[in-house]
Amino acid sequence: MSPEKKPCKVNFNGKELPAYEGQLAIEVARDNGIDVPHYCYHPALGNPGNCRMCVVEVQGAPKPMVSCRLPVNEGMVIRSDSEVARRAQTSSLEFHLVNHPLDCPVCDQSGECGLQDYYMKNGRYESQVRKDKVHKRKRIQAGPHVMLDQERCVMCTRCTRFVDNVSKSHDLGVFQRGHKQFIDVTPGKTLDNPYSGNVVDVCPVGALTDRDFRFKVRVWYLDKTDSVCPGCARGCNISVHTNTKRPWHNGGKRVGRLKPRYNPDVNGYWMCDEGRYGYESVAGLDLDRLGRVMRLSPRQELSWDAALGELAGKLKARGAQTAVAASGMLSNEDWAALKKLSSAAGISRFFFAAEPDQVGEQDELLRRREKVPNLKGAEAAGFKSEGFDALSRDLEAGKLRVLYVVERDLTRVWGDRAKALLSKAELVIFQGPRKTGMADLAHYRLPATAYVEEDGHFTNFEGKVQRYFQALKPLGAARPDWRIFDDLRERLS
Ligand code: SF4
Ligand code: SF4
Repeated sequence: MSPEKKPCKVNFNGKELPAYEGQLAIEVARDNGIDVPHYCYHPALGNPGNCRMCVVEVQGAPKPMVSCRLPVNEGMVIRSDSEVARRAQTSSLEFHLVNHPLDCPVCDQSGECGLQDYYMKNGRYESQVRKDKVHKRKRIQAGPHVMLDQERCVMCTRCTRFVDNVSKSHDLGVFQRGHKQFIDVTPGKTLDNPYSGNVVDVCPVGALTDRDFRFKVRVWYLDKTDSVCPGCARGCNISVHTNTKRPWHNGGKRVGRLKPRYNPDVNGYWMCDEGRYGYESVAGLDLDRLGRVMRLSPRQELSWDAALGELAGKLKARGAQTAVAASGMLSNEDWAALKKLSSAAGISRFFFAAEPDQVGEQDELLRRREKVPNLKGAEAAGFKSEGFDALSRDLEAGKLRVLYVVERDLTRVWGDRAKALLSKAELVIFQGPRKTGMADLAHYRLPATAYVEEDGHFTNFEGKVQRYFQALKPLGAARPDWRIFDDLRERLS
């Protein structure tokens, strides 16, 4: 609580709660673990007070009041659980459902829908609707990622407030009035702003759903793990939703979806579409993954012991002529282990800068130009990157005999020249989670875990060190990069 805020006490549902003068009653309740039903209020999008779901009984007030527009003061007595408050909440809910199609069995929001949840908690009334409902448009593709169902909308306007005030893209709007009112895409636009997926998160019902996720797996089969998005140097806090209970759902993919996780200092409530829908390249399509330790010439599958033994023998004599080309995808733990390995092997050439293969668009909301999460972590560990031009020059000149490529696809850095350049090295080791173009050009392939299969830390562009947790078991023989570096170092010594 900031110093200018005057503390006070409020009696809420019979309990004396700490608050400050002028704080909204719905926020006093939330801060103290009391759930007052609501649709339109969102801490980052304001409180228009239009859904009328958060009505509470206030001692001395002639009628129930909406708690999202009710500033509290000392001694106020409020109840969200009294007979009067509950009746008012039930009436509001009944209005919301008058024209709702009640198509829950075929709605993908089932299991995380504000209408379902509040009906079970605050509804359970006999419907008085005897007339035909007003029908609106369904299955509208609002943009590349989002589907709109106008009939299921409760007109809370969270989505339009998001596109007006956060993404500032103005690609959704409210049209018509009264019971004919509906949400639609702004004429001449599509919902294709770089943050469009957030409208699905803020929509409390099944009106806006995710094209990428809908009908793939029911939400109650998903497990959730705290993580950090590796899509750029911002490091948005996310929750990885994994599907391991029903492996035959979701096309066999183990990651169901990514959702933003609130962190006021990094990403607030939001994440961008690149990060949200980019997870397939990392962990979605297990078919794309490296799962076996391989020597490619002569081709043979090896045990970790055998491969690391062979590599240690080769590195021992050539440390000074070895270069490491890495990616900012490595964790702080990986960089620390690489540091020790490099000291033991005498490696002093490192290439990990974000070159054209790892840069993209930046904006003022979240997205950063460097499309990897941990360049700061490399710098903090004491690494300095040379440019990839220097690497290609020294390969051409025969100054480098060994190239150790970690989670980097040099075919994306050098394009058509990659094959010829790599052929100049006596030994190319590729270590990473995926079968990229690079994996085919190496002499050894070492399978590494994807970030969802390991614990670790990334340091974001502002220097914030953030922890991510293991959500899935590693595929095949994959191991975390730090462990491969450590095992190799042990063999060197
Ligand atoms: S589409 Fe969803 S977020 Fe938008 S107004 Fe309707 S219910 Fe609210
Ligand atoms: S802004 Fe960066 S870290 Fe955040 S979700 Fe997008 S890609 Fe991921």
